[in-house]
Amino acid sequence: MLRELNILACFCSDFINEIDDFEVEMGTDFSCFPTTNEIQITVVASAVSVKEFRENLFLRTSVHNISEFTWSLLHEVGHCKTWHYMNTRTINHCKNIKRKIERGSLPRTMYYDLTDEKIATDWAIKFVENNLALVKTFDSQALKLLDEIYSKYDLED
Ligand SMILES: [Zn+2]
Repeated sequence: MLRELNILACFCSDFINEIDDFEVEMGTDFSCFPTTNEIQITVVASAVSVKEFRENLFLRTSVHNISEFTWSLLHEVGHCKTWHYMNTRTINHCKNIKRKIERGSLPRTMYYDLTDEKIATDWAIKFVENNLALVKTFDSQALKLLDEIYSKYDLED
C-alpha cells in the first residue's frame, strides 16, 4: 500500500475509533460491514455517486463546509451505528430496491432516501452537528492528506 494512503487510513481510523471500535481499510469505494464495524474508505470515489450523496445530504443539513470525504466516512460509521434499528423486512426491502436501481429500472435519486441510507446519513448529520469543531479539525487535516495524495499520484477525476 502506498505510504500516504496508509497514513490517511490510520488517520481516519484514529478519528472514528474515538466513537467506537472500527476497522478501517483503503478500497475502491466507501462501504462497510455493519455487523463487524469494518469500514472501507477510498480516494477514488465515483464523481456521480459523490454528487448524488451531496445533493441529498445538503437538503438535510446546513453544514455545507465539511468535505464529501469526511461526510462519506461518517455516513459509513452511521450505517454501523444504526444497523440494529433495521428489521429483516426493511433490510430486504432496501436490498431489493438497490438491485432495481442498479439495473436501471428505478431512478438513482431514490437511493439515499432508502431507510438504511437515510438513517446512516441522519446519524452522520447528528454527529457532525454535535461535534462541529472536532469534525472540522479532522476534515482540514484529512483534506491536506488528500491533497498530497492527489498531487503526487494525479488521481483526481
Ligand atoms: Zn450508505
